[in-house]
Amino acid sequence: MRKPVPTFDPRAMREIPANVMQRYDIAGPRYTSYPTAPVWDDDFSEADHIRALRASATSGRPLSVYVHLPFCESLCIYCGCNVVITKRREQATAYLDRLEEEILRTADLCGAPHRKAVQVAWGGGTPTYLPPDQIERLMALLAESFPLTADAEIAIEVDPRVTTREHVAAIARAGFNRISMGIQDFDPAVQEEIHRVQPYELTRDLIAWCREDGIDSVNVDLVYGLPLQTADKFEKTIELVQTLSPDRISAFSYAHVPWLKPQQKKFKEADLPRGPEKFEIFTRLVERMTDAGYEFIGMDHFAKPDNELAIALRTGALWRNFQGFTTKSGTDLVGLGVTSIGSFDDAFTQNVKDLPDWNARLDAGRLATHRGMWLSDDDRIRRDVIQDIMCRYRFEPAVTSKQHGIDARAYFAAEIAGLPALEADGMLVQDGRGGFELTSRGRLFVRNVCMVFDAHLDPNAESPVFSRTV
Ligand code: SF4
Repeated sequence: MRKPVPTFDPRAMREIPANVMQRYDIAGPRYTSYPTAPVWDDDFSEADHIRALRASATSGRPLSVYVHLPFCESLCIYCGCNVVITKRREQATAYLDRLEEEILRTADLCGAPHRKAVQVAWGGGTPTYLPPDQIERLMALLAESFPLTADAEIAIEVDPRVTTREHVAAIARAGFNRISMGIQDFDPAVQEEIHRVQPYELTRDLIAWCREDGIDSVNVDLVYGLPLQTADKFEKTIELVQTLSPDRISAFSYAHVPWLKPQQKKFKEADLPRGPEKFEIFTRLVERMTDAGYEFIGMDHFAKPDNELAIALRTGALWRNFQGFTTKSGTDLVGLGVTSIGSFDDAFTQNVKDLPDWNARLDAGRLATHRGMWLSDDDRIRRDVIQDIMCRYRFEPAVTSKQHGIDARAYFAAEIAGLPALEADGMLVQDGRGGFELTSRGRLFVRNVCMVFDAHLDPNAESPVFSRTV
């Protein structure tokens, strides 16, 4: 029986010394996987991918399925996703035809007809770029190829600017029970600056349609750290979000990585809130949302106390994967579509990122493998420790020892030797047995704590591959 997750006290946000904030505001992974994607291997081949899928078929693990739909009508400047900007709808129709091929091929390789999928997620891009009839057609084929459990989580990301009443009706008919929509910020000046004009009424109406059609769980995305944002102005956005009463909120820290996403060069550096200014925006969000009764799940997620994510946090059942936090733990994730990622007990796979390349592979009757990684025993041990820190906010060597048949105190002797420094900075409290529990402050800097256990990070390199932790 695991110990309960420590409670979070939002007052911790106001008690961080400036020198601590400065030292912890560094580039670091978001740990939606370990090892993180930048260290995966370009030599991981299609044969490796097939081997991973076949091994999954005999693993007995439940399935999770991710479908990437990359199309958007226009580019939001802050966007960090893999997108194809086009108004040529026939491109999406051709994509769907090939996607259906990939679904059949992949489902066969991973033995899907004899297994159960507990989770399906469509992301993008903008899945509602597809017209309603295509959404229903794609979901029908998915459900036929990957049989779903009765309580499967079936989630879709939508863009309120292009999602119609008919879309919502089709989404509900197709069986989706989770919907997630971007807001980012309601301030008109910020919306102009990020090239995403989305009046409040549009989002309000979309949420009302979802409720009318019985879609259980509504998530909204916000982004803090965007140009022209200030803490005072962002409070107005928070007030408007509260009137919408979403079940969950994901508040992402804007990742300014213009060397990876050239369109971000359009932002003036001077307009970007940074360091303490950016942290103040996030602080106000945490304070206002927790005052309003939401639970701070972790990193950048909030949920109503009766939402399954909040329940999973309290019961220690929370899990983290490429979609962020989830309640479906221990699944094998199959990725479909351009750039999509697969995650198995001992391997990661990723499809090619370029649409013409993906088209060509599918047309040749192949999988669209771009790269991946076989996990070593050490990777699997560290992955599980990082999961525990990200989702349960503690490291318990006895649990890790039992899970992996090792002496975790000896195995992590070097990491444990570094804990007093983190304790002195108020990040954690040691338990005297080599383990620790994160403090409320530590939960805010959870990425930094996980970095101690990351064997692939060069501790001396300020890697430009990752966004900053604040
Ligand atoms: S709608 Fe979403 S995926 Fe498309 S460009 Fe904007 S942020 Fe990126």
